[in-house]
Amino acid sequence: MKKFANKTVLVTGGSRGIGAAITKRLAEEGANVAFTYNRSGEKAQAIATAINHAGGKALAIRANSGVPDDVTDAVKQTVNEFGGIDILVSNAGIYIGKPFEDHTLEEYEEIMSVNVRAVYVAAHAAVKHMGAGGRIITIGSNMADGSMGPQTTLYAMSKSALQGFTRGLARDLGPKKITVNVVQPGPVDTDMNPADSELANFVRSRLALADYGTGDDIAGLVSFLAGDEGKFITGSFLTIDGGFNA
Ligand code: NDP
Repeated sequence: MKKFANKTVLVTGGSRGIGAAITKRLAEEGANVAFTYNRSGEKAQAIATAINHAGGKALAIRANSGVPDDVTDAVKQTVNEFGGIDILVSNAGIYIGKPFEDHTLEEYEEIMSVNVRAVYVAAHAAVKHMGAGGRIITIGSNMADGSMGPQTTLYAMSKSALQGFTRGLARDLGPKKITVNVVQPGPVDTDMNPADSELANFVRSRLALADYGTGDDIAGLVSFLAGDEGKFITGSFLTIDGGFNA
C-alpha cells in the first residue's frame, strides 16, 4: 500500500515551483491531492491531468490566497471531492523586494494577506475536517531566522509571523493529535528565486553546499513530516537551506 493511500492533502499554490513539487510527490505516494492556483491555470490543469492519467486523484482549484473566501472555498471543494482533509500544506507565497522607503501600504497588505492571513484562514477552515493524525505544514523561509540582505523586510516579517502561528497552533491542536510545523527553505531554484539570476553567484557563495535546492528537496521533507515518521514533531521550524547560515 502506498504511503498516503486514503489520505487527502490540500496544497496552496500547487501550480508552480515548490508547491508543484509537493503536489506531485504526495500524489505519487498515493494521496488524493487538491491544490490551488491563482494565475497559472494552464499549468495547474496540466499537473492535475498528468496525475489523473497516472492513476492518481487530483483536483486543481482556482483560489486567490489573498481573498479569504477563495481560501475557505478551496477547503470546501476539497472536502466535497474527497470527503475530508488529512494534510494541509500552505505553500502559496509572494516576495516583494524593494528599498524599504519605496514600499506602499498596499504592498504590505498584499504580502501579509497571501503569506500570513491565508495560512490562518486555511488552517481555520481545514481543522474542522481533520481527525487525529492530521498535519498542518506551512512553507515559511529561513529568512525568519536571519536576513539575506536589504529589501527583504516585508517578506521576512511575514515569514517570521508563521513561527508564532506554528507554536501557538501546535499547542491548541496537540490534544487532538494534529501536528503543526513550518518548513523553512533557503534558496530553491524556482520562478521566485531563479538560480540563473544576477544574484545567484552571491547566493551560492553563502551556501555551505554551494548550490540552490530544488522543489523536490522541499517535497521530501514535507512528505516526511506528513507521514507517520513525523508524528512526534510539532511546533517546530524545520530549516532546509543548504547551510545558508552555517
Ligand atoms: P513561485 O513564485 O515559483 O510559485 C509560487 C506559487 O504560489 C505558484 O504556484 C503561484 O500560483 C502560487 N501563488 C502565488 N500567489 C498566489 C495567490 N495569491 N493565490 C494562490 N496562489 C498563489 O514560488 P516558490 O515555489 O519559490 O515559493 C513557494 C513557497 O516557498 C513560498 O511561500 C515562498 O515564500 C517559499 N520559499 C521559497 C524560496 C525559494 O528560494 N524559492 C525560499 C524560501 C521560501 P499561480 O502561478 O497560479 O498564481
